[in-house]
Amino acid sequence: TSFAESKLPENVLDCCKTFQKPSPIQSHSWPFLLDGRDLIGIAKTGSGKTLAFGIPAIMHMLKKNKKGKGTRNPTCLVLSPTRELAVQISDVLSEAGEPCGLKSICVYGGSSKRPQINAIRSGVDIVIGTPGRLRDLIDSNELRLSDVSFVVLDEADRMLDMGFEEPVRFILSKTNKGKWLRNQQLIATWPMEVHKLAQEFMDPNPVKV
Ligand code: AMP
Repeated sequence: TSFAESKLPENVLDCCKTFQKPSPIQSHSWPFLLDGRDLIGIAKTGSGKTLAFGIPAIMHMLKKNKKGKGTRNPTCLVLSPTRELAVQISDVLSEAGEPCGLKSICVYGGSSKRPQINAIRSGVDIVIGTPGRLRDLIDSNELRLSDVSFVVLDEADRMLDMGFEEPVRFILSKTNKGKWLRNQQLIATWPMEVHKLAQEFMDPNPVKV
């Protein structure tokens, strides 16, 4: 319920210094995610969900001592249904990761691939992207997911609704099995597809927050 209680390093909490205390989704998710558990999170927009998975993602990378590898193989992957959401997440994770020496990049369709390829080539720890462009960059061997061990599916239900099941499956099949977080705007019924995907890729008993 307080940042001090979380016992997280100062540089990891740098992005939270203007906040009074962790938001409910953060204080409920962090203990499980920091403990390495898979998790399904259901949260409203504006609830602080990005740092709910972002801070544990950063801790995961620091623990693995993966920062600043300067390679095309990121450790953390965030899939997002839209360019707008991907950019929002990327802004938050870039700011949060910077004091820890972690580099985030964002890739999405509908814009030139070249700057995204150059960014990947210059080295990346966290990649945030939309499914179509991510698949493209994997297909052309620009992006390699073999080191990915922390995976976030942002608004997983919406991604499936938008017809991204096939690229999402393809992308996940290229990663190490990792951590998943599902976010949706309001609590709703869980689509079967999410259950099927969850059963296939997650621990049998993921934490639900
Ligand atoms: P998100 O749900 O991740 O899109 O975050 C929504 C907004 O809440 C962003 O502007 C964050 O900067 C802000 N935020 C994140 N965590 C906290 C917190 N613990 N206390 C207050 N605001 C926060």
